[in-house]
Amino acid sequence: MIGGMAARAEPAPILTFEEARHLVEAHAAGVRPRGKDLVELLDAAGQVLAEPVVADRNFPPFRRATRDGYALRVADLGQLPAKLEVVGEIKAGASLAESAIRVGAGQAASIMTGAPVPDGADGVVMVEYTSREGDSVLIARPVASGDNVVPAGSEAKRGERLLEPGVRLDHAAIAMAASVGRAHLLVYSPPRVAVLSTGDELVELEDFPGPNQIRNSNSYSLAAQIKAAGGEPVLLPIARDESLHLRELIADGLESDLLLLTGGVSMGKYDLVEQVLAEFRAEFFFTGVKIQPGKPLVFGRIPGADGGRYFFGLPGNPVSTMVTFELFARPMLEALAGRTRQKLIFLHARLKTEVRTKTGLKRFLPGMLSGEFEQAEVELARWQGSGDVAAAARANCYIVIPPDRERIAAGEWVAVMRK
Ligand code: AMP
Ligand code: MG
Repeated sequence: MIGGMAARAEPAPILTFEEARHLVEAHAAGVRPRGKDLVELLDAAGQVLAEPVVADRNFPPFRRATRDGYALRVADLGQLPAKLEVVGEIKAGASLAESAIRVGAGQAASIMTGAPVPDGADGVVMVEYTSREGDSVLIARPVASGDNVVPAGSEAKRGERLLEPGVRLDHAAIAMAASVGRAHLLVYSPPRVAVLSTGDELVELEDFPGPNQIRNSNSYSLAAQIKAAGGEPVLLPIARDESLHLRELIADGLESDLLLLTGGVSMGKYDLVEQVLAEFRAEFFFTGVKIQPGKPLVFGRIPGADGGRYFFGLPGNPVSTMVTFELFARPMLEALAGRTRQKLIFLHARLKTEVRTKTGLKRFLPGMLSGEFEQAEVELARWQGSGDVAAAARANCYIVIPPDRERIAAGEWVAVMRK
């Protein structure tokens, strides 16, 4: 250090997309949700489970037939067709103890899907391969031992953990909880995510914009994205491009679990966000990512008693805000919501029309996904750049263009991120 001069912090680096994403994920691995709530089963759909869900009995609880047909002894089918004596009928919900049906040598029992397979039987033949003749049945096709029978306890044993804390409860997880009789579930409290849009040109929805003003749309796209990701948006008033006002609103934003700022992170004279965050002793992990849209993205943490607060300074261009939320803010939000780490996966579609771009940045460009079933096709949406909300609204995906490709021909497979 030169005499009298304060040590300067290293400038935060500009990272590749993958480096930046992994860095956010590494920080996200260290955060915890703020609490837990006990909610009714249906209210838990879409929320993150905060306790293990355990099997209260064996699944299936009895040997279950998976077809309508006849329960029989496979050894009796040495010669086909085989004629077997029908000793009874077992429907779903029937009690084997009460009916006392047992399948002996040369016998079969008529059985329905979901019914318990009686003692003595080791296979079920589908009714389509049989013909009934009074008290007998003719079996036309061979059956192997265990065919169309699910052994008791083969899906899960009593006491086994069926759902782990950290899963987001989709319809199948809700079905699992219902199967073990859980009318209530413990879920993590949704994180509160503060949204702070900055810019002198912005007006609120209820105000009429002057000739050089625009309406604040980023607060609303972000609020919708936050909800979809399992968070609770907290919309702050628009911050003027003025340090004092920005400072006050950032302080308010720090009451939430995560702070998202939009705008004011580029190189303009009134892009004050980083400067004001620095006044809060913010640590900056990166201040740019080699992507388009969204290059000036900022990620950091403001120190504090309870582990501090992470923040993202999202570029103000509306499409940049949308894309950078999905790519970077979302994994942090999900971790605060208690969700286990979700790796980002892109699916692929065939390019309909050639794409030409410049190299150097990984691009996430609004696209139109079309085709049907196994034939997914995609092409770029017409757009005027990252301020074009109309194009983003028309698009149904983002096409992911690698940083080393100048031209991608029609017919090539490209990665796609669904919107
Ligand atoms: P900035 O990142 O502040 O330089 O803003 C980049 C562009 O995005 C400018 O054209 C802004 O007017 C626009 N913009 C910034 N914030 C918002 C917002 N909250 N809603 C809509 N457009 C915005
Ligand atoms: Mg601005």
